[in-house]
Amino acid sequence: MILVLEKGITEEKKNSIRSILRREGCIVREISSNEQCIIGSAGKPAHDVDFFRRLPGVVKVTPVSTSFKLVSRQMHPEDTLIQVGDVVVGAERIVVIAGPCAIESRDQAMTIAQEVRRYGAVLFRGGAFKPRTSPYSFQGLGEEALKILAEVREEVGLGVVTEMTSPAQADMMMKYVDVVQIGARNMQNYELLKCVGRMGKPVLLKRGLSATIEEWLMSAEYVLSEGNDLVCLCERGIRTFEPYTRNTLDLSAIPVIKNLTHLPIIIDPSHATGIREKVPPMARAAIAAGADGLMIEVHHDPDNALSDGPQSLYPKQFARLMRNIYVIAPVVGKQLDFDYLDKAKAVDEMPAAPGHADRRTAFLGEIGTFSHKACTQYFGTKITPVPMSSFKAIFEAVKQGEVDFGVIPLENSLAGSIHENYDLLLEYNLKIIGEIKLRIMHHLIGHPGTRMENIKRVYSHPQVFQQCQQFLNSHDNWELVSVSNTARAVKQIKEKGTPADAAIAGKEAAEIHGMEVIEEGIETNPRNYTRFAVIGNKPLKNGPKNKSSLIYSTGNRPGALYETLKVFAERGINLVKLESRPIHGKPWEYMFYVDIEADVESDSFKPILKLLQKKTDYLKVLGCY
Ligand code: PEP
Ligand code: MN
Repeated sequence: MILVLEKGITEEKKNSIRSILRREGCIVREISSNEQCIIGSAGKPAHDVDFFRRLPGVVKVTPVSTSFKLVSRQMHPEDTLIQVGDVVVGAERIVVIAGPCAIESRDQAMTIAQEVRRYGAVLFRGGAFKPRTSPYSFQGLGEEALKILAEVREEVGLGVVTEMTSPAQADMMMKYVDVVQIGARNMQNYELLKCVGRMGKPVLLKRGLSATIEEWLMSAEYVLSEGNDLVCLCERGIRTFEPYTRNTLDLSAIPVIKNLTHLPIIIDPSHATGIREKVPPMARAAIAAGADGLMIEVHHDPDNALSDGPQSLYPKQFARLMRNIYVIAPVVGKQLDFDYLDKAKAVDEMPAAPGHADRRTAFLGEIGTFSHKACTQYFGTKITPVPMSSFKAIFEAVKQGEVDFGVIPLENSLAGSIHENYDLLLEYNLKIIGEIKLRIMHHLIGHPGTRMENIKRVYSHPQVFQQCQQFLNSHDNWELVSVSNTARAVKQIKEKGTPADAAIAGKEAAEIHGMEVIEEGIETNPRNYTRFAVIGNKPLKNGPKNKSSLIYSTGNRPGALYETLKVFAERGINLVKLESRPIHGKPWEYMFYVDIEADVESDSFKPILKLLQKKTDYLKVLGCY
């Protein structure tokens, strides 16, 4: 049951409620919420709900209606995030676990691990104890394989995931691996579930071959009830009457799970389909449906794999799939980050800004804006976002070393460039160290339960009104109130406290301020993306760089710009953006901002850069990323 406690309740009263619940044999969890103090309890107390309702300090008691308690959303409204080294499962960046079905040798594991890491996997999988249908099939290398996994972690830098088939393997698992997988065949092996519950290591809990979602969640409940909240669910196909695929991938489990539980869910299209060519389309669909990640079997020589070769992707296929996921992710508000691990390492190795223990990134506006989202999606939980009141203040803070990075919008796919930031990039001597693209979806947000017909005023940023013109035209009786940013608009309507006031913002702002989305996706054009640049004093050492930004000016003579562009054209270098801005104090003279698909700081580019210098009056490299 859920016990809502009175506002400002004393620790003493709270403790007494907790100890009564524990005495009655309940598991007690405090549910964090900035406004309300709530206690969740699971178990079968001797007393009825009325008894708890009458306890001093208790305002309301609601029984949890589902058979699973600790895993239910009611008990824990926020998403559970599972930290595995630098990787966070369940957050805004998609987590891809890849590797062979089974570890066959050190060479095999290293080869595949290097390949999958290169293409963007952040965790490595590989079976050591294989639960095979036939006792005559390869059973796995056992502890030897676990040692190889530990070496992969050391050498390739990927956290490792493997299946545990018996409580007797607990010590070994604790010693060698980062995530313990419970296989489909063991989903209801309750001794094993209790054992991993006590181990406290992150658990990847596969759905049983014929398990209902409720049975699957009850299995997760076993792990949580032993004190381990770090459970990630994994849908891997269920057995149906359909023989064309090995199993039937239940993609509808994703939204069902998201609704019922706070635990993250990842999809394993390899075991679900059993057929290599069916894996990429199902993986793409899983991300589109809202999965937190994927588990994919990859083998460099699948024809000779000791298990599950026919469903294992070749590394090149895996690479192609990852590029497609990269494109799909922003559509559903997430990111696939090819630099995930290198970036985390580079950030850790940076000296922190003087006087600060944490790494800080400045952004415009306040918590809950799209700029804030760009910030958290780019760096994950590694940094503290620091709100600023102007773009110039961001550049200044980075320059002065008060923050480590800044996140600035550069262009919107509908509204075009944000010129102020282009001008600031010229003025300041900072580097673009990365970029991130977000899909901008606007929602009509109001007080919970607000009906459209009660709305009289709508608050947002003027540009947002423009982007939602079509929707607003059909409500021309609404008064539009301009506010400096979308998150502030939501904050203001909350303070006003009446259903007559609504706001337009992203869903994060609604969540942060406890408001409700009344109408989803009201932007006129759904292809509304904003590209943000991440700026810093020094480039990050984070993997291969394939894009560069330059600023230059040319003499005022025929063909001067053409001469510079010819340098790129003749070498097959793709130009992805060309923008011109007036030079301050020099009427009718222009700076050109150029983005190209190349690393201009690489050795092979040096002669080209020299040539470009000759053909320009001024040239500045803004960054390679
Ligand atoms: C595996 O991941 O290799 C495996 C055996 O999976 P499942 O338990 O889903 O069959
Ligand atoms: Mn397998």
